[in-house]
Amino acid sequence: MTLQFHQFAYNSDNYGVLIHEPESGETACIDAGDSAEYQAALNRTGWSLSEIWVTHHHWDHVDGLKKLKASTRASVRGPEGVDGVDDVLKDGDKFMFAGHVVEVLHTPGHTLDMINFHIPSQHTVFTGDTLFSLGCGRVFEGNPKMMWKSLQKLMVLPKDTLVYSSHEYTLSNAQFALSVDPDNADLKSRAADIEAKRKANAPTVPSMLGDELATNPFLRAADPAIRAHLGMAEATDAEVFAEIRQRKDNF
Ligand code: ZN
Ligand code: FE
Repeated sequence: MTLQFHQFAYNSDNYGVLIHEPESGETACIDAGDSAEYQAALNRTGWSLSEIWVTHHHWDHVDGLKKLKASTRASVRGPEGVDGVDDVLKDGDKFMFAGHVVEVLHTPGHTLDMINFHIPSQHTVFTGDTLFSLGCGRVFEGNPKMMWKSLQKLMVLPKDTLVYSSHEYTLSNAQFALSVDPDNADLKSRAADIEAKRKANAPTVPSMLGDELATNPFLRAADPAIRAHLGMAEATDAEVFAEIRQRKDNF
């Protein structure tokens, strides 16, 4: 059966998601950054947690893991090195969740351990802190070349894939995006839409991969207009990406 998704906010700008299959009752969550907020989401939906899927080791994603695991007895899937993981996942792994195949993509750059979860049957991917709405994660543990390679793994997914990322950074991402891609009509209209949504306190996550490909500058290193704007017509895509990432760090 079709999976149901329940997204909720926690901390100042994090998003968690519950994934539920109504027939079996199986429920998974993305990360476990705050046990109380995750438990509140479970209480709201009436779903009981069977699995926790961890994207990476940063505190705002795993702070509540121990407590949530203990209180729900959920099993934990995630990258190597995260305390409490029962099923260690690596690039290319597949597992079944309530009759649905889940594909694991290793997308290092923000951290070396980052993994993303793709559910092809639902046209949905959980990108953690790798790909954001109109942005991408800061490169902390890897290097820009590595991050660019990771983003390319996401860019080849079907355009109608829904992208759930872990932070509400979209408004500031939009302001930055306009600074490197000022003449992009799709970006301008998306930025206006985002502004309206944030004014109404509505989430801008998830987004459609096709829209990210058309407007997210971190996926558009090959775009002639951006290259011209940066004066990098002859550079490699990885070099253009690195320049955009560096500009964002200093924006
Ligand atoms: Zn992180
Ligand atoms: Fe994060």
